Amino acid sequence: MNAAPSDNLISIVIPAYNEEDVLHELHRRLKLVLNALDMRHEIIYVDDGSKDATVEIIKSFRANDPSVGLIKLSRNFGKEIALTAGLHGTLGDCVIVIDADLQDPPELIPQMVAAWREGAEVVNMRRNSRAGETLFKKWSAHTYYRILNKLSDVPIPEDVGDFRLMSRKVIQALNALPESNRYMKGLFAWVGFQQVTQLYDRDARAAGLVKQNYPKLIGLALEGITSFSVKPLRIISLVGFMCALVAFGMTAFYLLKAIFMGDSVRGFPTLIVSLFFLGGLQLVSIGILGEYLGRMFIETKRRPLYFIDEQLLSHRPTGENK
Ligand code: UDP
Ligand code: MG
Repeated sequence: MNAAPSDNLISIVIPAYNEEDVLHELHRRLKLVLNALDMRHEIIYVDDGSKDATVEIIKSFRANDPSVGLIKLSRNFGKEIALTAGLHGTLGDCVIVIDADLQDPPELIPQMVAAWREGAEVVNMRRNSRAGETLFKKWSAHTYYRILNKLSDVPIPEDVGDFRLMSRKVIQALNALPESNRYMKGLFAWVGFQQVTQLYDRDARAAGLVKQNYPKLIGLALEGITSFSVKPLRIISLVGFMCALVAFGMTAFYLLKAIFMGDSVRGFPTLIVSLFFLGGLQLVSIGILGEYLGRMFIETKRRPLYFIDEQLLSHRPTGENK
C-alpha cells in the first residue's frame, strides 16, 4: 500500500504539439484540481516542436508558477517520444499522463490518486464513449485492438489511451527501456505491475485540430504489432508451407489426370489466378519481413530518442532527471 503523506509529489506530463488554443483552459482546470489535492505537484509540458505560440504560453504559466516545467524538444518527434521525454523529466511519487486537448478530464485525477493510494501501481483509464470521433475511427480502433491482441503476447487493453497514472516504480521500469520504437500503450502494458482500470467518458477535443493524423496512426498501429509480436513472421511461414502442400496435391492430381485421362493443355485462367495469388502473397511476406528489418535497422543505430532544445524544470539538482 502506498502511503499518503501530504509531502508526496505528483507529476503531470502533457505532450503538446501546436496546442495554443487549449492550453489556457487546460492549465486553469488542472491547477484547480491539483491545488485541492493533498500533495505537492509539478506539471511538465513537453513541447513537441510546435510552430505556434505553445512554448510562449507555457513559459507564461511558468513565470508566476514554479510548479510548471517545460521540456522543449528540438523538433516534432511524435507523441510517443514526447511522452518518453516527459517521463524522463518527472520526479513524482506518481505520474499522470494526460493529453493537452482536454479529451481526458483533469477532474478525474483525485480518483486516480485514490486508487494509487490503495495500492495500484498503474491506474488505466478506459473510455466509455468516444465523443466527437467518427464512426470510421471507432470501428478501425476496435478492429485494430482485436488484431493486436490476437497477435501480442501481453494483453493491450482496448479503449485505454495514454491517460493513466503510474507509480515511481513503473516510471523507473519504463525509463529503463532503451528501444527507439516506442509504442507507449504496449510498453505500459508490457512492464506489468499491479494494474487497475477505471471507466470514464472521453470528451471531444476542446479546441484546435487533431494532431494525430491517419498516416501517423497507421504507422503507430504497425509499430504496435511489430514491436510486441513476431507472430506475423510465423503466420507467413505457415501460409507458405500450406501453399506448398496445396501445390504438391495439385501436381499429383494433374499428373494422374494426364496419365489416366490423357488431358490436353488447358487451364489458362487457373494459371493466371494462381500466379497473381502467389506473387501477391510473396510481396506481402516480404513487406512483413521488411517491417521487422526496418525496426531492427532503426534500433541498431542506437540514436538518442530525442534532443532537448530547452529544459526548464524547477528545484532539481542536475542529473536527477533521468
Ligand atoms: N501530440 C504530440 N505530438 C504529435 C502529435 C500529437 O505531442 O506529433 C500531442 C497533442 O498535442 C495532444 C496529444 O498528443 O496533447 C494527443 O493528440 P491528438 O488529440 O491530436 O490525438 P488523439 O489521440 O486525441 O487522436
Ligand atoms: Mg485528442
